Amino acid sequence: MQKLLIVLLFSVVFISGTNIVNAQYTNASKWPAGISYEIFVQSFCDSDGDGKGDIKGMTSKLDYLKDLGIEAVWLMPMNPSPSYHKYDVTDYYGIHPDYGTTADFKNFVNEAHRRNIKVVIDMVLNHCSNQHPWFVDAAKNEDSPYRDYFVWTHKDDPQVKVFVDKINEDSRNRNRWNKVEESDYLYYSYFGSHMPDLNYDSPKLREEIFKIGHYWLTKMGIDGFRLDAARHIFPEERAKESQAWWVYFLNEMQKIKKDVYLVGEVWAPFDQVAPYLKGIPALFNFDLASAIKKAVNEEQSDSLLIKQKKIEEYYTTVNPKFIDATFLTNHDQDRMMSSVDNNINKAKMGAALLLTLPGSPYLYYGEEIGMRGKEPDEYIREPFLWDDIKNDKNRTTWIKPLYNSDSTIEPLAKQLKDKNSLVNYYKSFIALRNNSKALTFGELTPIDLGKSELCAFQRNFEDENLLVIHNLSQTAINISLLESLKEYDMVIFETKGSNLKKNALHLASYSTLVLKK
Ligand code: CA
Repeated sequence: MQKLLIVLLFSVVFISGTNIVNAQYTNASKWPAGISYEIFVQSFCDSDGDGKGDIKGMTSKLDYLKDLGIEAVWLMPMNPSPSYHKYDVTDYYGIHPDYGTTADFKNFVNEAHRRNIKVVIDMVLNHCSNQHPWFVDAAKNEDSPYRDYFVWTHKDDPQVKVFVDKINEDSRNRNRWNKVEESDYLYYSYFGSHMPDLNYDSPKLREEIFKIGHYWLTKMGIDGFRLDAARHIFPEERAKESQAWWVYFLNEMQKIKKDVYLVGEVWAPFDQVAPYLKGIPALFNFDLASAIKKAVNEEQSDSLLIKQKKIEEYYTTVNPKFIDATFLTNHDQDRMMSSVDNNINKAKMGAALLLTLPGSPYLYYGEEIGMRGKEPDEYIREPFLWDDIKNDKNRTTWIKPLYNSDSTIEPLAKQLKDKNSLVNYYKSFIALRNNSKALTFGELTPIDLGKSELCAFQRNFEDENLLVIHNLSQTAINISLLESLKEYDMVIFETKGSNLKKNALHLASYSTLVLKK
């Protein structure tokens, strides 16, 4: 104990109003267990003043991401596309000219790799744009070599009526069968008429998809793919075939790159997500994201850890090597600040939970500076604020923001100088996690301290044993540490002056304390 105390005295590191004590900077984490950062390129950083974010801009911010503690980026689609969001691709091999060139992208990949940051790109393989040359040709010509790339039905087919009847059940009122003008045929499109579904019953289409994967993994040197709409490859009643397709895809990609990383969007309850883990080893944990936000909003930890354990145990039965891609929000969800009524303490608590629970956390750009935003989608994808508007040479202007301006958000440059800012709070938790094997890889054991406002758990890996205690409430809590936990006698991290003295725990409002055995 004497020896530990000496280490403690000489290695106290003060970061941003949060204390990391006795941190040994060995960088314990190793991607894909590390933290990934999701970027909407169009809103991130503009290098040439045309108002739209671009690859060169993004490259210039890699040092910022490195400093934040990020180990990988997930880039939203960059392929040519008629839409601002680019989830309807017209050329799977290209880069949208607004974003730059393939040379710019290669340079980005090299610069990211030089900093040990992996690059994962969005692949939108369920559907393409109705302006993709494949579809344009297939729609006007029944004998087109691309006809079989899409799913067709004749207007007199009885199943058309069944599907049309279903339209009213779709919350977004989308028509899944769309007629080609001056033709007797309709094409299947789950996400609306401008996004025709690709036909995965076609062996030729499958080969085409493998070629696309090969191109990005070999010619562009990326590390993996984020797979959009992964459960819609076949219609819902053919879910097993969708799951089997991804196993096939994974095997083909592994032939090209042995350690290829696949992370998928299967936006459904966890028991429907789990079967996809065989082909896509990392899947976004939508249920846990909701559970964290609920706990933060209600200031009650009741069901959070139960949910976490239930999901983890279920996933393990499908694929023991699964990667739990945890997150708070993404480009399809209201931003965290807007989900907690702009309460900065609650936004901080969300980050604290995400970054101390098991998983491989994803951080959506702008969450670290507390950007706000609610649907419709454009307004949860607003321009990042690098500096005051008068000094901000990188702020994008492609959209007039509704939520994020100098009057609502402190830009990054100011926050970096403020030790109590949200970004510095994120940085301190990311540093804590990146330097802890227990937080990165460890098992979670829930601990009941007798108060539902406290969320407490052990994280254990090899010889590192941590006890994490979060006070989710606005009221400070003083309790004694259970006799069975008295070996956890060393504070390695605290926020807001929370502490342990002898057996007495003091937990300030909305605070975190991490103890070590
Ligand atoms: Ca630009």
